[in-house]
Amino acid sequence: MNGYYGEFGGAYIPEILHRCVSELEEACRTIVPGEDFRREYEDLLCHYVGRPSPLYHAKRLSEKYGCKIYLKREDLNHTGAHKINNAIGQMLLARRMGKRRIVAETGAGQHGVATATVCALAGMDCKVFMGETDIKRQRVNVEKMKMLGAEVVPVTSGNGTLKDATSEAIRYWCCHPEDTYYLIGSTVGPHPYPWLVAHLQSVIGREIATQLAELEGDFRPDYLIACVGGGSNAAGTILRFIDEPRVNIILAEAGGKGVETGQTAATLALGRVGILHGSRSYVIQNEDGQVIEPYSISAGLDYPGVGPLHAHLVTTGRAKAIPINDDEALQAAYELTQLEGIIPALESAHALAVLPRLKTKPDDIVVVTVSGRGDKDMDTYLDLFTI
Ligand SMILES: *Cc1c(COP(=O)(O)O)cnc(C)c1O
Repeated sequence: MNGYYGEFGGAYIPEILHRCVSELEEACRTIVPGEDFRREYEDLLCHYVGRPSPLYHAKRLSEKYGCKIYLKREDLNHTGAHKINNAIGQMLLARRMGKRRIVAETGAGQHGVATATVCALAGMDCKVFMGETDIKRQRVNVEKMKMLGAEVVPVTSGNGTLKDATSEAIRYWCCHPEDTYYLIGSTVGPHPYPWLVAHLQSVIGREIATQLAELEGDFRPDYLIACVGGGSNAAGTILRFIDEPRVNIILAEAGGKGVETGQTAATLALGRVGILHGSRSYVIQNEDGQVIEPYSISAGLDYPGVGPLHAHLVTTGRAKAIPINDDEALQAAYELTQLEGIIPALESAHALAVLPRLKTKPDDIVVVTVSGRGDKDMDTYLDLFTI
């Protein structure tokens, strides 16, 4: 845990945050590995979140694509996505660090809802920064956060999306370093956040290994597929398998309207090395290093950066990144619904849309992480698939 994945990562932060970040690093070293922390975390994952989540053999989908497809059902978690795994862990950490207030950013609202949920559970103050554009497209999640007792702070800078909300949350943290814990939602931000979030999500991949060993007699699939916004569900899915070369790792990022159209969030395809939100990674930026506003139909993937772990894995060839356009994701969401009776989140639909591009053999085993459920995306689905 030195904060770097190859040339990516680090902690590029203003002076005023040095103490907070060192304090957090110390807590990651001392509290997170502790028996007491692990016991409470695992107890909540089991009895509150509903883990382990099923590894479901999707038979009709498998038949269509001519291989054996398993879905890792993070959509069945409490609050409807993988985000809760991370939020619970960081809440437990914040409490042990003696913090009273939690601040967070949110894009689709899933991380905001997960954070507001764990704050209600712990009786802590909660402030969620959310871009105005996202507030409009994710109304139900905003209402949930309010009902859970969180204050939702609208952010009007930039496009009013995730990047802007993240900047505002970090700004607030800078001004209130003593009593505030910043609960980041993905494997981004300054070290130790990318490590911490990946560690807290790694339960996904450990479960896949145990479940596959039981079902197939080998814990290693031939392909692992996950979508990437900042990269937390993907990191959680793949961490256990990075040192297993026979496992092909595929990261589906948001192509938006197409990587060549300028309306895209395909950071791994288009990004150049830069620093965003305290971390060195690929960033979608112009010649002058100004961040270009990203675009995706899916609010959870609409981010111009990507986790340093993912940048490293793609650069070294260990993982392959595939941009998936809006229309392909919509098609995949519709297909999963019709073939398996599962309405996925739009983000997860990007991972599912990799299936038509794979060149598999009939006995290949493919695991796709379904990071969340589609309830929050019903307006988008209904607009585009009117009967
Ligand atoms: C937030 C979100 C994502 C994207 O975030 P990652 O950190 O890349 O996992 C993907 N799927 C769902 C359902 C989400 O809510």
